[in-house]
Amino acid sequence: MTRSSDSERHLTLDPEPTSGHADRIQVLRPLLPDAERLLSYLRRIDACRTYTNWGPLISEFEARLAAHFDVPSGCVTSAVSGTGALVGAILAATGRTTAERPLAIIPAFTFVATALAAELCGLRPHFVDVDADSWQLQVKAIERHPLLKQVGLVMPVAPFGRAVPQAPWLEFHRRTGIAVVIDGGASFEAVAQDPATFLGDIPVALSFHATKSFATAEGGCVITANRALSAAVGRALNFGFFEARDCGAASTNGKMSEYHAAVGLAELDNWSAKYASLREVAAAYRRQMAAAGLSDRLLVAPDVAGCYALFRCADVAEAAAVVDGLAAAHIETRLWYGNGLHRQPYYVDASRDELPVTDRIAPITIGLPIAVDLPLAAIKRIAAAILSGVVT
Ligand SMILES: *Cc1c(COP(=O)(O)O)cnc(C)c1O
Repeated sequence: MTRSSDSERHLTLDPEPTSGHADRIQVLRPLLPDAERLLSYLRRIDACRTYTNWGPLISEFEARLAAHFDVPSGCVTSAVSGTGALVGAILAATGRTTAERPLAIIPAFTFVATALAAELCGLRPHFVDVDADSWQLQVKAIERHPLLKQVGLVMPVAPFGRAVPQAPWLEFHRRTGIAVVIDGGASFEAVAQDPATFLGDIPVALSFHATKSFATAEGGCVITANRALSAAVGRALNFGFFEARDCGAASTNGKMSEYHAAVGLAELDNWSAKYASLREVAAAYRRQMAAAGLSDRLLVAPDVAGCYALFRCADVAEAAAVVDGLAAAHIETRLWYGNGLHRQPYYVDASRDELPVTDRIAPITIGLPIAVDLPLAAIKRIAAAILSGVVT
C-alpha cells in the first residue's frame, strides 16, 4: 500500500505530461522557490558548514514561522515531513504507549499518513466517522465512544486544510487525560488567519510537502503553546537527546535539514505573492463554475486550502461520469483521500466504527487540477468538461 501511494504521488509530481498529450492538465503542479531565490540561503550554508541539527537557518525558519503564526518563538518545531511532525508530536504527547490504552482514534476521511504515524508510535488505529458538514471528528461522539477506556490518543484532522479549533479538544484532553494531536495537514493558511482559534496547548502538525500551499518539498512543523511539550517534540525528533547526548525518550530522527530550511525561508519571502496567486486561481474557478451554474458544487480557498479545488458530485454514478468527462478532455483528477482509510489495502481489516459519512463523501469529492499559475483557459476547459458529465 505504501508503495502504490508512493508511486501515485510521484505521478502527481511528474513535470512531464505522462500520456503524451500536450494539452494535458495535471491535477497538481507545484511551484517552489527557484535557484535564484535559494542562492543567498545556500551561500550561508556554504559559509557556516552546518547542514542539519537545528542549525542557523532552521532557527531563523522556526522564528519566522512563529512570527507568521503570531506565537512566541520556541512554540514551532520544524520536522522532516508532515508525517515526521506527527510522529514527533505523538511521541511527545503520549510517550510509550501503554497496554491498557493501545488505540488511536483517527477519522477515516484523511490522508493515510495520519494512521501510519500513529502506528509508527506503537498505537493501533481505530477509524471513526466524520461530521457531514465540517468533515471533522466530532468531540461529542468521541467523548461517549464505547472504546474510550482503551484510547491512548485522538487525532482530529484538518480535512483539505480546514483547520481544527483548539478549544473543544483542550477541554476533552483536560476532562479525559487522553492525549490529542491535531493533524493540521494542509491548514497552513487557515491557521495563520486565526491563530487564537487554531493554536494553543494541543500540538498541531503541519505538512510542507510540495503538494501543499506552503511547501519546502518535504517538511513540516509542530506548533504548540506548551513549552515543555514543544521541547519534548524536538527531543522526540532527535534521538531523545536534550542538551546531553543521552537518549531520554521514545524518539526517531525526524529533523529538517538546513537545505530544506533554505527552501522554507525563500518560500516565506515569496509567500504573500504565492498566497495571492492561489486566491486568484480560486476566484477564477468560482467565476467559471458560477457561469456553468455549478457554484454550490465547488469548494476552493478559503473554504479549503489554496492547494485544493474540489467538486462535489451528487452520487457515485455522477462522480464516474464527471471523472470520465474530465479524463476524455485530458484533465487529471484525484480522490485525495481515496475512498477512506478503511478502503486502503493495508487497513481493510483495521478496527473501525460504521462509517456512513466517509463512505458517502469520499468517493464523490473530486480533486480538480490546481497550480498557482493555472491559466484561465485551463479552468474554462475544466468547467466545460465537468458540465458535460454532470446530471443537471
Ligand atoms: C499532506 C498530509 C499529511 C502528510 O504530510 P507529508 O508532509 O506528506 O508527510 C498528513 N495528513 C494530512 C491531512 C495531509 O494533508
